[in-house]
Amino acid sequence: MKTANWERNLLDLIRRTSTDLPSDIEAGLRKALRSEKKNSHGYWVIRTALDNAARARGEDLPICQDTGTPIFHFRVPVGFDTNALVAVTRGAVSRATRRGYLRENVFDAVSGKPFYTNVAPGSPVIRIEQGARKTVDARLILKGGGSENVGTQYSLPDERIGAGRDLEGVRRCALDAVWKAQGAGCAPGVLGICIGGDRATGYECSKEQFLRKLSDVASDRELARLESRIVRDSCQLGIGPMGLGGRTALLGAKIAAMSRAPASFFVTVSYLCWAFRRRGMVLGPEGGLTRWLY
Ligand code: SF4
Repeated sequence: MKTANWERNLLDLIRRTSTDLPSDIEAGLRKALRSEKKNSHGYWVIRTALDNAARARGEDLPICQDTGTPIFHFRVPVGFDTNALVAVTRGAVSRATRRGYLRENVFDAVSGKPFYTNVAPGSPVIRIEQGARKTVDARLILKGGGSENVGTQYSLPDERIGAGRDLEGVRRCALDAVWKAQGAGCAPGVLGICIGGDRATGYECSKEQFLRKLSDVASDRELARLESRIVRDSCQLGIGPMGLGGRTALLGAKIAAMSRAPASFFVTVSYLCWAFRRRGMVLGPEGGLTRWLY
C-alpha cells in the first residue's frame, strides 16, 4: 500500500467533510428557508446556517465547533489489506486534528483525560465491508454530539406512545423522537430509521441511512411513503428550526428494514443535525482519487 497517497486523500476527505456542506443538504436548507415566514425565528436560523456553511467553505474552516465523531464506511476489494487501511485512516484523523479540521474531541470515558489526536479506543469509528469492484469506496460522516444524544430506540409495542408492531407504530416512534429532540438536536435535521434488527444492528443500520442522498427514496413503496409522511407530519408539530418554532423540523427521513426475532420489534431512530457532514470518494488500488461520490 502506498501510504502517502492514502493518507493524503483520506485527509482531504476529512477536510472536505468538515468544511463543505453537501449540495443536497444545502439545497434542502434553501427550500426550508423559502417555506419559513420571512424574518421569523425559523427564517433567521436557516439563513444563519446557510451563511455559516458558505463562510466555512470559503475559508476552509469547520462548519460547526463540534466536528463530531468521525464514522468511516469503506467498501474494499477482495483480499485488500484492511489492517493497513485502518492504520492510514487513524493517521489521517490525527493529521486532520493537528490541522484544525477536527476539534480535539475525544476523552477517556473513565478518567476524562483528552486524546489530543482523536485516535483512541473506539475512535475513529471504522466500518469495512467487501465489494466486487477493484476500487475502494471511502465515505465519511462527522456526527455531532448533540444530534447523537437525541438518537433513541423503541421496543414495540409501546403503550406510552400508542405504537403497535406495524408501520403506524414506526411513524409514532419517529414523531416522538422528533418531539423529544426539539431544542437539542440542532434542527432541521435528518432521521435515519431502522425497523427490526437487534439493539446494536438497529443503531448501525439507522446511521447507515445517512449515507443516502436527501433525494433518495426507499425502494420499498410503503417505506418510501412513510419517509415522506414522517417529514410532513414532523413539520406540522410547530417545532421549527432549532426548536424555536416554524415550519421545518426535518429535512428528510430515511428508513430501512431488517429481519427481527419473534420476541423483539425494535424501531431505532438516529438523528443528524443541519450540519449534515457527509462526503465520499472512490480511490484506486494505489490510493489515487478516482472521483467524489458526494
Ligand atoms: S448537533 Fe450538529 S449543529 Fe448542533 S452543535 Fe452538534 S454538530 Fe453542531
